Amino acid sequence: MTSAPETSFAPPPGDLSAAGPDTDASARRLAYVTVGVPTLGFLGAVVFAVAYGFTAVDLGLLIGMYLLTSLGVEGGFHRFFSHLSFAARPGVTAFWGIAGSMAAQGPIVFWVATHRQHHAYTDRDGDPHSPRPAEDGRRFPRVRGLWHGHVGWLFTVRRQNWSKRVPDLLRNRLVMRIDRYYFGWVLLGLALPALLGWALTGGSGRGAVGGLLWGGLARIFLLDHVTWSVNSIGHTLGSRPHRTRDNSRNVASLAPFSVGGSWHNNHHAQPGLAHNRHAFWQIDIAGGFIRLLDLLGLVSDVRYPKRARPE
Ligand SMILES: [Zn+2]
Ligand SMILES: [Zn+2]
Repeated sequence: MTSAPETSFAPPPGDLSAAGPDTDASARRLAYVTVGVPTLGFLGAVVFAVAYGFTAVDLGLLIGMYLLTSLGVEGGFHRFFSHLSFAARPGVTAFWGIAGSMAAQGPIVFWVATHRQHHAYTDRDGDPHSPRPAEDGRRFPRVRGLWHGHVGWLFTVRRQNWSKRVPDLLRNRLVMRIDRYYFGWVLLGLALPALLGWALTGGSGRGAVGGLLWGGLARIFLLDHVTWSVNSIGHTLGSRPHRTRDNSRNVASLAPFSVGGSWHNNHHAQPGLAHNRHAFWQIDIAGGFIRLLDLLGLVSDVRYPKRARPE
């Protein structure tokens, strides 16, 4: 394990980070909302299903909204905004930004800055969410390391060196506008399934509440934990076909749910690619969707692997 160059941690002039060693209080408040509200919403959805049943409309809205926002996170926030693995015009850029924001995992700039920091210092000091065993002498170091990599990091992450990590986003007026209205997109992601649930059930209140709970809050909860599992499990358990310098893993069982994001060792081996699939059987829904948009002429300059590398 090598340590990161010391200078990389020095905030450059004009950095966005709050001065001082502590986590920014507003970021911590946002972490409580980000983790807490969907958890309560998921529990509410289960109680609601026990009381009023679980309908085909509830399931359809859960799957439809999950697919839209998981593509927004993996295809948009991750492969497009974080890794620039293809290019898109403003309308398509806005689609990725809004669909990703509706996942409620944080605004674009936060998500991308954190992720680029993860790639710059993967599994070393400076990685915001490496699930390395805690080295503070307290009990259950592995479990606490895993917990930190999964969700704990949200409460301790610092907005350090953001302007250095995301100069391209900070210069992009469209992206910054989408970032600024983050909570509006989150609310849209709740209102949309509620409205659809209402409309698809002939204007029933039960349909609206079912849509809000399953297509909105429970969907956010489920996708949150799949995305965070790529950070925690995807750096702890799974196969390592590529001998990367980090501890990244391919987690096949999560592939359909992460729309391809859990081929995480493949991704760390070649992070700039729009595809994570290195063998024909590896499901990569986000990669397939980007390919479809490319065929339709909606995205361009897609960075495909030169040839598949089945290992
Ligand atoms: Zn990683
Ligand atoms: Zn990445």
